[in-house]
Amino acid sequence: MLVCPICKSEYRDGYIVCSDCECELIEKPEVDEEDKPVKKGSKISQFIMGVLIIICSPVLSHKFTSMYFISNGVVQYNNEQFMWMLKAYQASFLLIAGIICLHCILYWYKN
Ligand SMILES: [Zn+2]
Repeated sequence: MLVCPICKSEYRDGYIVCSDCECELIEKPEVDEEDKPVKKGSKISQFIMGVLIIICSPVLSHKFTSMYFISNGVVQYNNEQFMWMLKAYQASFLLIAGIICLHCILYWYKN
């Protein structure tokens, strides 16, 4: 499909210039194909973010659990409680990362 760059009129193959503007016709740009790489790129960055969270989840959970105890000024806690908190945080990070990754995987699967 050919299109006039000025008035955007569409012409069948065979025409060279626009009858109104006397302007040379150009190939109609495929908008859909231009949009796809951008979307895919953002999906890849999301996927990488998810993977990074999975890899960093032990470190992140340890950091946040420590922060929680320090910010509250609670020094008296037993190791078992702390470990339980740590595991809970770790599980939540893995869950969040899993949701981010799954969302991207499902997107790729459908396309
Ligand atoms: Zn035109």
